Amino acid sequence: MLPLAGHAEIRAVLGRRAVAGTLPQSILLHGPAGVGKQRMGLWLAQLLVCQKPTHAAEPCGGCQPCQMAARLQHPDVHWFFPLPRPEGTSPERLREKLEGVRATELEARRADRLHVPAYERTPAHYLAAIQTLQRLAGSRPAMGRRKVFVVGEAELMVPQESSPEAANAFLKLLEEPPADTTLILTAERPGALLPTIVSRVLPVRVRPLSSAEVSAFLLESGAVQDAPEADRIAAASAGAIGRALRLLPAAGSASPLERQRQQGRTLLETVLSSAAPVRFAAAHATAPAGARGEFLGLMDSFSVWLRDLLAVVSGAPEHLLHGGEADLLHRAAQRPGLHPLGIADALRRIDAAREMAEGNVNPQLILADLLRGVHSDIHAAPHV
Ligand SMILES: [Zn+2]
Repeated sequence: MLPLAGHAEIRAVLGRRAVAGTLPQSILLHGPAGVGKQRMGLWLAQLLVCQKPTHAAEPCGGCQPCQMAARLQHPDVHWFFPLPRPEGTSPERLREKLEGVRATELEARRADRLHVPAYERTPAHYLAAIQTLQRLAGSRPAMGRRKVFVVGEAELMVPQESSPEAANAFLKLLEEPPADTTLILTAERPGALLPTIVSRVLPVRVRPLSSAEVSAFLLESGAVQDAPEADRIAAASAGAIGRALRLLPAAGSASPLERQRQQGRTLLETVLSSAAPVRFAAAHATAPAGARGEFLGLMDSFSVWLRDLLAVVSGAPEHLLHGGEADLLHRAAQRPGLHPLGIADALRRIDAAREMAEGNVNPQLILADLLRGVHSDIHAAPHV
């Protein structure tokens, strides 16, 4: 389990209110992805169950409830986050199956402090999981005097894949939370939540960290050994530790930028191929679910590849950015039916996809649609 890094000001404000007992029952921590909103929710939960908070209104770290909360094992601290729907599950068994998936994911987060979840299918908050939450909120605390719920990425209660019922069921709980219950929601885009939910919570903005804070965290946590490398990753993280962790190269693998370059090439090869199933496979293999920063990086890389293809097709091969891949691009440009104006259309389509990714649309859907569109752009006679 990761410690909460940075955010000194909000911690001081929320911490004092928690210790004084004046914290509202329902809070919404909102801010960019990966800045530590759920970590902050868990920190606040730990403080709420701590028996001897410090003078600075921090959890003492020594009492049993504190230690259990820090290990994600406190029976009254419940962490809900979006989960992928288990495959082939009947509606009756969904609740139980989802609890199994949540337990597995919690175990992974306990075991690896730097764990970054990666799901095959798009995660969401399903009604069945919200019902589990309601049931827990309705029962008495197991250990202390109160229960604390951290509900991460609360906006995923209402995507197409889930059901509006999840948000409505949660709304019921927010309308009349049991007196011994604190609900801490987190969201990247509060605008995507039901207005009725937003109106019942205290909104608290969680800002990006400084690059220096991210860099210091990477070094202290042991995620990165080398200071210049930590600075480089921190600079690309936009103040979000979660994003920095996704940028770390896996042991023995290529650097993140190199990986993105390779993925961009896969996309280019995919749109050049005529087989639709190949395009779908590529969309699912490359689209990072729920990681917009990574998706945008992939779009940048794809644009560069298409620009290079445009340079070759329109007879200006001396301007290649991927000069080392000239052979691949020249072979691609030999394909019949490629049209420079169509490639220009495709580049505009990538810009549109980038904008769409800023909204509440699943990156995999955007990518599947984009690949179909780009394939037909570059092969069809252009719009005049
Ligand atoms: Zn304590």
